[in-house]
Formats: sequence, structure tokens, C-alpha cells
Amino acid sequence: MNRPIGNKEIKIIQYLMLAVLLVLVFAVSAYAGRMRRAENSEKSSDRTENAEAAKDGNNTGDAGASGDADTSGQTEENQGTQKAESGSKGTIVLDAGHGGFDPGVCGASGVAERELNLVFAKKLEALLAEEGYRVVQTRPTEAGLYDKEQTHKKAQDMQRRCAVIEKEQPLLTVSIHQNSYPDSSVSGPQVFYFAQSKEGERLASCIQDCMNEQLAVEKPKSHKGNDSYYILKRSAGTAVIVECGFLTNPDEEAKLKDETYQDRVVRAICDGILNYLKEDSDP
Ligand SMILES: [Zn+2]
Repeated sequence: MNRPIGNKEIKIIQYLMLAVLLVLVFAVSAYAGRMRRAENSEKSSDRTENAEAAKDGNNTGDAGASGDADTSGQTEENQGTQKAESGSKGTIVLDAGHGGFDPGVCGASGVAERELNLVFAKKLEALLAEEGYRVVQTRPTEAGLYDKEQTHKKAQDMQRRCAVIEKEQPLLTVSIHQNSYPDSSVSGPQVFYFAQSKEGERLASCIQDCMNEQLAVEKPKSHKGNDSYYILKRSAGTAVIVECGFLTNPDEEAKLKDETYQDRVVRAICDGILNYLKEDSDP
């Protein structure tokens, strides 16, 4: 027969339960802290990207000064080596920037860059498909390309975008973004290319020219070389980043949300791509 539990034993059990509870609370808060730190470091690296793009955006006069490093002679350009498949003229990869937990730049009206990037990417896909190209989207939905339980979501997201490009070996890749800058008067589209890539520079120039002309940009920017953007640095073949405009400029933000203007933007990007590919196939 069990003897009844005494007061002393009840006290001991209470102390033990309290100790277990304390350990649990400590473990949970330590884990949460680690998750927060990981997310913050991803966000801050992204802020750097945006800040740099904006800085470049403001340098309207420097005409890609850092971008004419034409010493590459690299073999990284596999542009043109891809064979057209099943009646298409070849594959083009479109990359809608940000997504999922990462909104990118947020406009004054509350619109998030990730939403607009996807709208532009889908509209551009339709135009390119009409022209006979096979289009692959790295991010076909609102979701980011990371696993839910992943600690380094941004890093995994970027690696997976590059993996799509690597697998597809496209004619070219266009990454779609919206820009930001502390001075809200700054506006206009700008195209970035990897500074060591001659083909990237040519593609960027073709797209920048079409955008400046067709969108009647008041203070047109020049396409610009860049050494640090992950998608430019790490993706196989020819890639550019198109910053369609500045969400920090209220007038431009309103235009970027307007469907008629969106159609003009993607028409200009599409024509730039076609000019690039046409020049390439000319003798
Ligand atoms: Zn962006």
C-alpha cells in the first residue's frame, strides 16, 4: 500500500516543476532570439541592396562609369548557345524580386514592391511569349523560394533563383525590381548589369534606351555596372536588373500602380530585349 505523500514531498515536487518551467522558458526565448537575429541579418543585407540601387539611381550623370570594364573576355556568357526548343525561339528567365516574408520597398500608399514586381514579370511574360520565347519565372507566385522552417530564408531564396537560371541556361535573365531613395523627388527607370559582363552591358543599354524613349522619361538615367548584386554576380549567362521606377516618389508610385503605365513599361522592356537579341543575330 502507498503511504500518503507528505508536505515535504509536495514542496520538493513543486520546486522541481518550477525548475523545469524555468529551463523551458529560457530555452524558448533563446531560440526566438536566434530566429530574430537571423531574420534581421537577412533584412539588413537586403536594405543594403536597396540603398545601393537608390544611390546609383541618384547618380544620373555618371553613365555607368564603373561599368565599362570590358577586359572580361569571359566565357561566362552562354548567350546564344542555347538551342531553341519545340518551336520556341529560346528560353528567357524572368525574376520577380523579393516575395513571401520579404516585401522589398514599400511605397507611400502602402503598395509593396514584391506585388508590383510580380505584376510586371507576368505582363512581360505574356509579351515575350507572343514573340515566340519560352518564359520561365523564378518566382511565379507571391511566395518566396525558401522553406518555411529555414533560418536563412533570404539566402536560400537567392540561391534557388540562381539555381533556376543555372538549370534553364536561358538566352538572358531579367530581374524586375522597384527602386527607393530618401529624396522623394528622384524618379525614373534604371537598368543594372554585372560590371564584368559585356553582354550584360549591351542588354542593359538596349532596355534602358527603350525605357527612356518610350516612357518619355524627363531626366533619363544611364544603365549602370554593378559588382555586388547577388543575382548579377552569381547567375549563369547574361542577366540584368530592371528597376522600373521609384516607389519613394509619390507621382512615380501612382504611375507604377496604373495598369496602362505598367503595359508601357513592359512593352519597353520587351522591345529592349528584342533589340538586343536582334543585334546578336545580325551578321
Ligand atoms: Zn528590390
